[in-house]
Amino acid sequence: MIKIDNILLIAIIIIFFVVLFFVVKILFKLISFFIRKIHTKLRYKREKIVKENSELYKALLKLNESYIFKDLKDSIIFIINCNSKAKFTKYDDNKELLDEQLIEYIILNEKSIKTNILDAIKNKEIFDEYCLEYDNLNFNTNKSVIEELDIKYNKFIEIENRLKIKNKLDPVVEISACVGYNYTSPKGRNSYNGKKDYSFNDLKYYLKEANKLEEYRKSYEAHKKRERSKVNDGLRYDILERDNFRCQICGATQKEGAKLVVDHIIPVAKGGMTTKDNLQTLCQICNSGKSDKCNDDDLKNYLKKTKSKKNNW
Ligand SMILES: [Zn+2]
Repeated sequence: MIKIDNILLIAIIIIFFVVLFFVVKILFKLISFFIRKIHTKLRYKREKIVKENSELYKALLKLNESYIFKDLKDSIIFIINCNSKAKFTKYDDNKELLDEQLIEYIILNEKSIKTNILDAIKNKEIFDEYCLEYDNLNFNTNKSVIEELDIKYNKFIEIENRLKIKNKLDPVVEISACVGYNYTSPKGRNSYNGKKDYSFNDLKYYLKEANKLEEYRKSYEAHKKRERSKVNDGLRYDILERDNFRCQICGATQKEGAKLVVDHIIPVAKGGMTTKDNLQTLCQICNSGKSDKCNDDDLKNYLKKTKSKKNNW
């Protein structure tokens, strides 16, 4: 009997302490909750006093109002969804390929990216001016003003300084870019992803490269159009006559029913110019078979020959 009583007593003591532990814990949580609430209220009240009476804070608000910054996104994100693991690996092994993709992306979105970059540069200029004025706000509210308030002097100054830091404007002055690439296997079992980051300076550099490439493409297209338009009726006749009205590949003639055309030996698309030595008579069948193809040696010789002449595209 005594033994059972002892066990019961020990059990009761254990239960008592366990319950006590939880009660204390809950009490502790409740007390800290109220303390925090009071603290927040007090903090809010103090902050309100400072906001209403601080000369520094008022001057800062006035300064902030006098500056307007463009609202910008601070990063450009471009994702390439690879349709095969091989393509993913290609980017993963040679991240320089992503630079080309970024350039193409910039060309596609040139206007918005350029505007964003220019806006960020403008923001930076204005922000530098702002910072100068901000740094000049190096005073605190007069002691005599604070002494009449329901707050300790040191506390007031501490809050005032904190508000100055917290309310400093923080516009976007730099834009970064990120090119991501990913691949997900058909059933979604495996997914891979990688990325390359670009700084603002990188982005500015690639914007320039994109402009150059676009310029080149435009002048290249103009070159093709220009050279093709040079083949007028007179020149066409001269070439047909020179080639005895005969296809220079199969020898077919108009009399035999062949339709003859004048062809650029080195295609315009490959840099060929409209000069008599680069034109030949072909029948339509041979011409459509040739299209933009040309002999590699012919091309090399041609480029060597025209190298001394200035390429105008
Ligand atoms: Zn032919």
